[in-house]
Amino acid sequence: MGGDTPTDGSSGTELNSSSSATDGDGNAAECDDVFTYNGGRVDPGESANIRYGISETYLGDPIRVPVTIINGAKRGPTVCLSAAAHGDELNGIEVVREVAHDWDHSELHGTLVCLPVMNVPGFLAQERYLPIYDRDLNRSFPGREGSTSARRMAYQIFTNFIEPCDLGIDFHTSTRGRTNMLHVRADLDNPTVVRLANAFSSNVIIGGDGPAGTLRSEATEAGIPTITVEMGEAHRFQRRLIDRALTGVASVLAEFGCHRESAVHWPGWRVVISDDDEKTWLRADAGGIVDMKHGRGALVEEGDVICTITNPFKEEDDIVAVEAPFTGLIVGVLENPVVYPGNPLCHLVGLERDTRTALEREQRTERSRSELR
Ligand SMILES: [Zn+2]
Repeated sequence: MGGDTPTDGSSGTELNSSSSATDGDGNAAECDDVFTYNGGRVDPGESANIRYGISETYLGDPIRVPVTIINGAKRGPTVCLSAAAHGDELNGIEVVREVAHDWDHSELHGTLVCLPVMNVPGFLAQERYLPIYDRDLNRSFPGREGSTSARRMAYQIFTNFIEPCDLGIDFHTSTRGRTNMLHVRADLDNPTVVRLANAFSSNVIIGGDGPAGTLRSEATEAGIPTITVEMGEAHRFQRRLIDRALTGVASVLAEFGCHRESAVHWPGWRVVISDDDEKTWLRADAGGIVDMKHGRGALVEEGDVICTITNPFKEEDDIVAVEAPFTGLIVGVLENPVVYPGNPLCHLVGLERDTRTALEREQRTERSRSELR
């Protein structure tokens, strides 16, 4: 935990491209930089919008994921940007779409593989899981041929569009009814993942290798260092968070030499939470209606009342005040203000003094800026 130093924007070194494109017969393709997938290719200097079939509906119609491949004229790493593995988590969709379609990639070194909506059935239903028996696409990677419907879909996405990449960023939001600060989840034991996480320039990085079957952990395991970006709530486009994530993507593309005219961004302060640092989901010990006193991103002191839980009659004797067990930052918080005992209230992470000072300074600046508006 604690602040680390900003990355030098001028370094912009390339990864060694590990993608060796082959044609259908398994022979090496004539150019290393051609992007190939089952049934297609995208040459250097070309882009393609693809609707790639990964399964079929009950009516026998194809289920097709939208994919945009932008193959730069110049050599560089292949970077995957993916979103909506959970079908109702929308913020990342807009991040991926804007990078793919609104940015100028004429000077791109390398290739961008953009998957704005991976879980198409979940997206159509506006649900987190695949509607078929509520399977979690983000526990089904790398997938398998001849297995369950979820694993077959995961397999099609993984083999065609994840495996050819050198790096990945997978965008998520909090689960429905909760919200979280924009933060990165990353395996801090993998040096390239750490470099990627730092380059994304979020204030908060949470360490851990992630559950089995997630895109992030399986891709990293397969030699494609990948981070997850968590941002905001489901079912929304949250412009401020989308803009911060776009800054993060630009910074990553600068760090890995894809967009050499851009600079690596430093967020001003950073807290890196390893597995053994103080962090906890505070859970309700009483059922009731929640009055949350602090929002996402708030700094709370040990003993501060984070929220109260009351019954329908607001009876004084039944009010439960939930206090912060330590001084920290509220990274995630519930939005839907009702709980059963055991339901999560907020995700609190401990902060060291230096980080607190930098955060308090930023919050003072932001307050004075908003007062001037
Ligand atoms: Zn998610």
